[in-house]
Amino acid sequence: MAPPCSADVMSPAAHAPYSFSAAAGPLPAEVAAELAEACRPRRGEIPAPCVPFTSAAYRRLQEETEASLRRLLGIPQHFRVLFMHGGASTQFALVPLNLANGRRLVAYVDSGHWSRRAMAEAARYAEVAVVAQARDGMLPEPSRWRLDPRAAYCHITTNETADGLQLGELPAIDVPLAADMSSDLLTRPLDFSRIGVAYAAAQKNLGVAGLTVVIVREDLLGRAHPATPRVMNYAAQAEADSRLNTPPVLAMTVTHRMLRWTEANGGIDAMAHAAARRSGALYAALDGSGGFYRCPVATLLRSRINPCFRLADPDLTERFLEEAAAAGLTDLRGHPQVGGVRVSFYNGVDDAAVAALISFVEDFARRRG
Ligand code: PMP
Repeated sequence: MAPPCSADVMSPAAHAPYSFSAAAGPLPAEVAAELAEACRPRRGEIPAPCVPFTSAAYRRLQEETEASLRRLLGIPQHFRVLFMHGGASTQFALVPLNLANGRRLVAYVDSGHWSRRAMAEAARYAEVAVVAQARDGMLPEPSRWRLDPRAAYCHITTNETADGLQLGELPAIDVPLAADMSSDLLTRPLDFSRIGVAYAAAQKNLGVAGLTVVIVREDLLGRAHPATPRVMNYAAQAEADSRLNTPPVLAMTVTHRMLRWTEANGGIDAMAHAAARRSGALYAALDGSGGFYRCPVATLLRSRINPCFRLADPDLTERFLEEAAAAGLTDLRGHPQVGGVRVSFYNGVDDAAVAALISFVEDFARRRG
């Protein structure tokens, strides 16, 4: 096949479409190829999707996945890693069910859409106190949170995927911290001295939907409400090495490969650096547009994973999205409850996609500004 001419190489559409979907991150090409290989039927070997969870092969896969996650994040020994089903939304119920320990009061920071979804679910099981609330892209400092020490835990959303707002350093507080890290686990270093439980669905930075990772401090196990279903009980799953029922074997295989790729590509520091570099370049383009684009989040809280922005002339938003899609840059529409434009820079996003997007953002402002 003839090599592409230089015009093709320069065009954003040369390797497009590039998806910037917030719902799920792309798998790096190497991971996708390994996965295809693992699924291919071969004489004498069980293809990855059909490996029985009771086999030594599956146990090894899960142990290697956990070891890789522990190395990447530096998870201390007194934390258990659980592999569960049901996505992050199920954890919205499982956090109060497992941690409330007979207490009525639970604390939540309302930093945006996903915090509110978590709160609504918790309110079915406990009395929810909102200790801080984001307004106009700003959130009070932890020292100003109205945290009642009687709360069983305090829940935060480290990265608000829909709003483009990300917390920096984790707060040091007197009750166990429960962190929804669905969109930024493995994109930043973590201070486990601040964490009680952290959870993330796998489909953004560490695999595909079907697997949810829960990292929980050992002393918080055994506090579940008696009506908690057994497969959703942290202590019971810890006891059974997350194999109380059939785990999502194929999703585990993807996470196994994805974590191996993350380690081979420089680990957490490299992922954090890439997230800062990509979002920094985009925010610079937005800030340098002379007001054509506006970012609604305070500079210190701007997400490195899901930058959100608006066009000063809202009538141009549809045109922006249409032209972007025509250039092969897809899934940029903001969350339905938020509007505007949203970009997602999950770990598997290709640098070529980032460069193509930024050049489109700048070019659109030049042509329409
Ligand atoms: N929390 C956050 C921060 C999210 O971004 C999402 C999904 N976008 C969820 C929770 C819900 O995840 P799931 O679809 O796996 O339930």
